Amino acid sequence: MAMAYAMDLSPPTFFSSLTPSSSYPLRRLSSLPISTFHRHSNRKLHILCQATAGTQPQSQSSNLSDANSKLAARSGQDRLLKVPISKVRNFSIIAHIDHGKSTLADKLLQVTGTVQNRDMKEQFLDNMDLERERGITIKLQAARMRYVYEDTPYCLNLIDTPGHVDFSYEVSRSLAACEGALLVVDASQGVEAQTLANVYLALENNLEIIPVVNKIDLPGAEPEQVLREIEEVIGLDCSKAILCSAKEGIGITEILNAIVERIPPPPETADKPFRALIFDSYYDPYRGVIVYFRVIDGKVKKGDRILFMASGKDYFADEIGVLSPNQIQVDELYAGEVGYISASIRSVADARVGDTITNFSRKAESSLPGYEEATPMVFCGLFPVDADQFPDLRDALEKLQLNDAALKFEPETSSAMGFGFRCGFLGLLHMEIVQERLEREYNLNLITTAPSVVYKVHTVNGDTTMCSNPSLLPQPGLRKSVEEPYVKIELLTPKDYIGALMELAQDRRGEFKEMKYIAENRASLLYELPLAEMVGDFFDQLKSRTKGYASMEYSVIGYRESDLIKLDILINAELVEPLSTIVHRDKAYSVGRALTQKLKELIPRQMFKVPIQACIGSKVIASEALSAIRKDVLAKCYGGDISRKKKLLKKQAAGKKRMKAIGRVDVPQEAFMAVLKLEKEVL
Ligand code: GDP
Repeated sequence: MAMAYAMDLSPPTFFSSLTPSSSYPLRRLSSLPISTFHRHSNRKLHILCQATAGTQPQSQSSNLSDANSKLAARSGQDRLLKVPISKVRNFSIIAHIDHGKSTLADKLLQVTGTVQNRDMKEQFLDNMDLERERGITIKLQAARMRYVYEDTPYCLNLIDTPGHVDFSYEVSRSLAACEGALLVVDASQGVEAQTLANVYLALENNLEIIPVVNKIDLPGAEPEQVLREIEEVIGLDCSKAILCSAKEGIGITEILNAIVERIPPPPETADKPFRALIFDSYYDPYRGVIVYFRVIDGKVKKGDRILFMASGKDYFADEIGVLSPNQIQVDELYAGEVGYISASIRSVADARVGDTITNFSRKAESSLPGYEEATPMVFCGLFPVDADQFPDLRDALEKLQLNDAALKFEPETSSAMGFGFRCGFLGLLHMEIVQERLEREYNLNLITTAPSVVYKVHTVNGDTTMCSNPSLLPQPGLRKSVEEPYVKIELLTPKDYIGALMELAQDRRGEFKEMKYIAENRASLLYELPLAEMVGDFFDQLKSRTKGYASMEYSVIGYRESDLIKLDILINAELVEPLSTIVHRDKAYSVGRALTQKLKELIPRQMFKVPIQACIGSKVIASEALSAIRKDVLAKCYGGDISRKKKLLKKQAAGKKRMKAIGRVDVPQEAFMAVLKLEKEVL
């Protein structure tokens, strides 16, 4: 019976590799996120090893003859042997979700004998619950292979990239660690928006791109059409494109040959001072942070004292090794090679993606270009439903932060929700994943406030402040202007849905920039719109209005001034802070109306009349009233004098007035949740 790696998903180890007893420490893929947004992201990489051998599925061995299998097995065993730097090739795979990246990666590992046939289990990099469910890979992984081409052994390093736009910085660092990339496009689907974005990143990094059209075995495959699309949209020469079927094993050898022939070797810089580019890091509770890097210059030995140039922290390299795809220890790594370091580093913030590692005693003159601090783009408040869980929430966030340097949080108090945290995320996927992890892996029950972006507020006294929390927006009298972040979005869609998408973008304050046909019946639309308009159900809308056919990509282009105001909600004349939002003036009325109506439905009636108002400053723009529960005080007056009835009613009215003056309205938790959800939809 085949036995897959046992993954320990309990909180303290959830970022870690395997249980320490495992003979193949396979790292825990990914630390991160999810979303509505990200069903369109690039998926999982699946490369899975098994601890014990299993029966080989027929389909996997069918394309490898016995002799080839033996050869592959030999070269797989030799994969740690050094080759000259001119025989090293570093590459990654760029593909849209479901276009076959993982299947191809599996096949490459199998054909090169890196993972023995008998140990192969389909789609095995996909080893995290959340990822498996949502079908995404958030973090990266690498695999070293040995491939014998014309009797010469080559060392091929496959570096994977996360596929989502929230992580485009991470993608750019992984690409910077390579000299080439395979561009995999599904023969029955064509080029998608995320593929384009990643190809542009690869071109910026001067990578050699090899176009590969996958799934040619499908009856609906139109490889010629797809090749034309790649040529027209991306401008790549497709005369030497490779047609393959990762599933059937067609074209795999051609791909390996093309990697060797077309991707240049790394430059020979082994004699320079050591510099390595970090393209991934993750936290292992047993060993500290494990850093994945590509050596750019010089070499590193086990035991060396290393320095992280951006964070300024230094450590001793307790263990160095390569990923093949499991971690295998080696003594030294040279320029051009890809590997990992374990140095008892306590937090990933000390060894962030994009940082340069150098030798402490022989420092490099400058760090590698491209390092950026993570800037959270989306914020929201997280509050435990049960106030007792506040310390647990803090612990959980601290633990998550060890593995996720981009996650920012600070304590926040709210009159309605009690104690919680204001958290910053790279994007929506990141936000949803963190929320979901907190709930699932730490058993926390959370309320999240509507996500907001970071506004730049210019005050009348000349200061500029960044505001990520609507309740902290300065009073109208104190602010001169407010700027909000804008994004450029590119939508790729079949031509039938162009109208629907234009309507959607227009609704979201989008500014039309460009439309072009990329193929006979597919078009690309370019819009600029406020990030705040995308925080919400934009992606869901995009998918539902195009029956799932459109894809999108966005990038932040900077801040622009907008006519923004703070919309407050008053219940029984009391301000409910968590429900405050920052909206564009034109939308204030519709948002205000929707919120007050929803609240009216959700708040239980009281003994007195409760006004629910939406206000801009002191001006009420929408108002609803929850009528009082009426007690029939006249019931006992059967017949009788009218003046007696009047007296009773007057007494009741006075009582209600007093009740209202001292009465508090308890807004039920569900009302908050429903309103926050509505806010996400309306905004
Ligand atoms: P990824 O999201 O890019 O990693 O894509 P996967 O490798 O998970 O593939 C998505 C789906 O396409 C899976 O169901 C695969 O079995 C299937 N697939 C991948 N390559 C091929 C191929 O060459 N031919 C066919 N027919 N299906 C394929």
